[in-house]
Amino acid sequence: MKLYNSLTRNKEKFSPAEKTVTMYTCGPTVYHYAHVGNLRTYIMEDILEKYLIYLGYDLKRAMNITDVGHLTSDGDSGDDKMLLGAKREKKTVLEIAEFYTQAFFGDFEKLNIKKPDIVIPATSRINDYIDIISSLIQKGYAYESGGNVYFDTSKLSKYFVFSRHLAENLEVGVREDVGRDQNKKSPNDFVLWFTKSKFDSQELKWPSPWGTGYPGWHIECSAISIKELGPKLNIHCGGVDNAFPHHTNEIAQSEAFLGGHWCDFWFHVRHLKDETGKMSKSKGGALTLSTLVEKGYSPMVYRFFCLMSHYRKVLSFTFPALDNAKAAYEKLLSRILPLIEDKTDSAIDKEAFKFHKAAFVSALGNDLNTSLAVTSIYDVLKSGATGATKLCLIADFDKVLSLDLIKNAVSYGESQKLIESGAEISANGAEDELKILIEKRTAAKKAKDFAAADKIRDKIREMGYAVEDTADGVRLKKL
Ligand code: AMP
Ligand code: ZN
Repeated sequence: MKLYNSLTRNKEKFSPAEKTVTMYTCGPTVYHYAHVGNLRTYIMEDILEKYLIYLGYDLKRAMNITDVGHLTSDGDSGDDKMLLGAKREKKTVLEIAEFYTQAFFGDFEKLNIKKPDIVIPATSRINDYIDIISSLIQKGYAYESGGNVYFDTSKLSKYFVFSRHLAENLEVGVREDVGRDQNKKSPNDFVLWFTKSKFDSQELKWPSPWGTGYPGWHIECSAISIKELGPKLNIHCGGVDNAFPHHTNEIAQSEAFLGGHWCDFWFHVRHLKDETGKMSKSKGGALTLSTLVEKGYSPMVYRFFCLMSHYRKVLSFTFPALDNAKAAYEKLLSRILPLIEDKTDSAIDKEAFKFHKAAFVSALGNDLNTSLAVTSIYDVLKSGATGATKLCLIADFDKVLSLDLIKNAVSYGESQKLIESGAEISANGAEDELKILIEKRTAAKKAKDFAAADKIRDKIREMGYAVEDTADGVRLKKL
């Protein structure tokens, strides 16, 4: 496969020396719900992982959960995001970390995103950070100043490894707050360990050779990746805002610690934007997956929406655009349904299977062109291949795309039957509203959002109908 590498700014052949590919993913900062922008990044990383598995690689993937050390500036200034979250909810830092970690993986499940094999909360690896920081001080790459420990960027021949990303980050306003810390020898230096911070109420602190304190944000990813995946990493992923300063600092400290090259490929997903610009968790009120589900969009529609554009392009979120994705997804299901309902026996045409599979593999093999990969489903449907061949190809492609195409084509068929029967039962002009409510309830149930599904059922009841889930699908009964 060819994959764009942000480090070299080239599409490069991905040909790892070992059959087991190692992949590291920067995890969420768990002080709030993930917004749909964060989830875009994780959906595209999921496609990358599943595509490599589809090609036959063994894959080992690790992810951190940031529950300490991430300040609002992404650098070393601003407020502590976890403390802000805990204050907002009048809970402890660990309580909100636990709550939002669960919510995050709940979204993963709804969106068919595979949970990484290894998931490590940052607070669980403090001794490893202390070991790495001690070694960096010993090698002359780090210094103590004003009670904190800093990485000395002047010791590197090249610090700004993602210089083009720096410009992109300035464009998205990531570095809006770069308060000057007088303890730093150079403004580029970054904190490895805080003992003196302005957060008197810092809840989580640990003893260290430099005094009681807590780690800077970047050290967790280097330490977790090196321990879990070894000193040579194949792919490191994240959203584009992570390139600077986070990934730049990860490279600085990991390579200084290891004494050589660390990671081969840097995979960065561009942002999802809404009308207000970059979506931001800290602004609050950012769009979440649950809100989309409440509005009647199934998580698969959002996944489909993301797959329709390339991960290296900024994606603009609007509801009309999501409506288009919903219509296109349902149209696709409606075209798959007759293949499932067709009871005539047909054989699999091996040549046709090979031909279409090659097109799919080549689409994703060209820097993960997901929209072209989706187009290969339409090409299968249009082709003269037998029904069995078509179904088999769709099931095969869905191992990577994970759009639940066959399962949802069946439920789509059931909901269509229901809508037809719904139109018969209601002669009081409420058919349209009932139809929409039934669709929303089905979407909520599929997303395992049972609270939302129950609310919709109550609303339908207020309109004079009981909802019954039968073996043949949902039925409405006049009360
Ligand atoms: P955070 O929880 O803020 O640390 O972010 C989790 C992941 O989402 C990181 O990989 C970020 O780079 C990524 N991310 C943040 N904002 C966006 C956005 N608007 N669009 C896409 N990815 C984003
Ligand atoms: Zn990271």
